[in-house]
Amino acid sequence: MTTATIELTGIRKAFGDLEVLRGVDLSVERGEVVVLMGPSGSGKTTLVRCMNLLEEPDAGHVRICGCAFQCGVRRDRRGRARLMQQVRQRTGMVFQQFNLFPHMTALENVIEGPRQVRRLPGAEAVSLGERLLDRVGLADKRDVYPSRLSGGQKQRVAIARALAMEPQVVLFDEPTSALDPELHAEVLQVIRELAADGMTMVIVTHETHFARDVADRIVFMDGGVVVEEAAPETFFTTPAKERVRSFLRLVD
Ligand code: ADP
Repeated sequence: MTTATIELTGIRKAFGDLEVLRGVDLSVERGEVVVLMGPSGSGKTTLVRCMNLLEEPDAGHVRICGCAFQCGVRRDRRGRARLMQQVRQRTGMVFQQFNLFPHMTALENVIEGPRQVRRLPGAEAVSLGERLLDRVGLADKRDVYPSRLSGGQKQRVAIARALAMEPQVVLFDEPTSALDPELHAEVLQVIRELAADGMTMVIVTHETHFARDVADRIVFMDGGVVVEEAAPETFFTTPAKERVRSFLRLVD
């Protein structure tokens, strides 16, 4: 019996004629931090979106947080909706563009999921929300609307919101790419702390220094397949593939 929190087998996904994922196998152990790197267009975002079924793969098998999903087979709508809901409840996702609700304060954004999905009573949800805002260093912004927050603060609220569902795994899709460079550090620090707490995470990022610090394993994708995976030290110093070496020369 595997201890993996995420296990992807033979994942394929096309958008029209464009084959974006061409048979990806990947597993992530409980407590592991996996960083996905690779050139733009190599399929990294699509792969993380397939993990929590925001995109449904055309073929392959997804197992995540105890939910198993055979892709490319017909299934009844109700069973599918139930499975999607289970997967989304057990996984948190942090997007490039934050995706906060503009008409809700920081606190309201964080507690929306627990209130609506987990049906947490008001006072409990508020106390959870306050705890999480404190954890991301934003206790004093609880009543502030997103339009009054910096990009880094918005992203930290988005991380608190993802944590509010008490997920077993958090998926990050280029969490700093929409931010000015001087705001990267505050977001990366929050993610570092989550890693230190043992959170299972998959992170798409181009931040090589951060990846080197935080990752247990780097997975490099190109052309919709995994080209190389290695511990960070090996990946950055002695990668096996020329494709990785040329990529690292460009990003470093
Ligand atoms: P990466 O994250 O590595 O940059 P993506 O997974 O975002 O790669 O995209 C891989 C390819 O799939 C790109 O060519 C992109 O334009 C295409 N793509 C991604 N999502 C869609 C979509 N919803 N519809 C059509 N094409 C898409």
